[in-house]
Amino acid sequence: MSVDPYMRGRMKDVKSYSPPWQIGAPCDGAAIGEVVASKVDGFAEGDLVQHGLGWREVSVVKGQHALKVVAPEGVPESAFIGVLGMPGLTAYVGLLDIAQLREGDVVFVSGAAGAVGSLAGQIAKLKGHTVIGSAGSPEKVAWVKDELGFDAVFDYHDGKVSKLLREAAPDGIDVYFDNVGGEHFAAAIHALRLRGRAALCGAISSYNDDSPAPFQLMQAIGKRLQLRGFIITDHADRRQAFIDEVGPWVADGRVKFRETIVEGGIEAAPHAFIDLLRGGNTGKMLVRF
Ligand code: NDP
Repeated sequence: MSVDPYMRGRMKDVKSYSPPWQIGAPCDGAAIGEVVASKVDGFAEGDLVQHGLGWREVSVVKGQHALKVVAPEGVPESAFIGVLGMPGLTAYVGLLDIAQLREGDVVFVSGAAGAVGSLAGQIAKLKGHTVIGSAGSPEKVAWVKDELGFDAVFDYHDGKVSKLLREAAPDGIDVYFDNVGGEHFAAAIHALRLRGRAALCGAISSYNDDSPAPFQLMQAIGKRLQLRGFIITDHADRRQAFIDEVGPWVADGRVKFRETIVEGGIEAAPHAFIDLLRGGNTGKMLVRF
């Protein structure tokens, strides 16, 4: 089962793109399950299916809401709720469609050791770009730099993000893939060059913190910046292109990915979720039942 940052928003009783979870009702979210009984053609006992009724041990899933999972050799099924699932598609769409990556762009990705960020940066690298990342620990920085091949990576705890970003990208950036918001966003606005573009994917630094944003947007006007938010569920039509392009990179190892798998099923799931918000994961955070 997947735990995802957007679930934090579902714990607030406010209108949003994803409706709030209700007290007393089960939570839900992406999961992969094994079919134990089926009344639907095309699904048989033992099949693995991806569905949206996580946060429970047994689910009754409608056939049209289940997708059979057949992983290529060497790729775990769990990848279909990670690097080849919603987080992967988010990285692909955010970088290529929303930020409209162009030849020669210098790209900055925050949350670079996470599920979305680690893939966004690798796609940009595979397309020949200079990529800078930020992450929250020396171990994560080492993974992103040495294994994923980003050109420069900093630990955002080591000082002001604006200073760390300036050191990593002295001539500025053209694209910012924002997973974090707050101070990272402010620093990126400053670093973006004329007609730079930002894909506003997430703002995890503010999910538990309602204090006002530490930036002002005047610079975005002067530099003609394009700052564009997006929600991945609007882009399901891009799934096939994503699988066709990124699937082979995952299968042949050109894209590397990690999963932090918490054992212990439903009992362990709340702790796994809290740990995700605190940076306890490298790559995709999952719970095994
Ligand atoms: P991650 O795998 O990146 O996990 C969350 C990470 O956020 C943690 O590991 C932690 O890493 C980092 N983090 C937590 N608090 C802070 C903070 N205060 N400052 C900086 N980093 C912090 O999650 P996902 O890849 O699933 O999601 C990444 C972002 O993308 C999230 O903001 C999420 O909401 C968003 N998202 C948006 C979608 C959309 O449709 N727009 C779809 C999917 C995801 P570290 O140790 O580096 O701090």
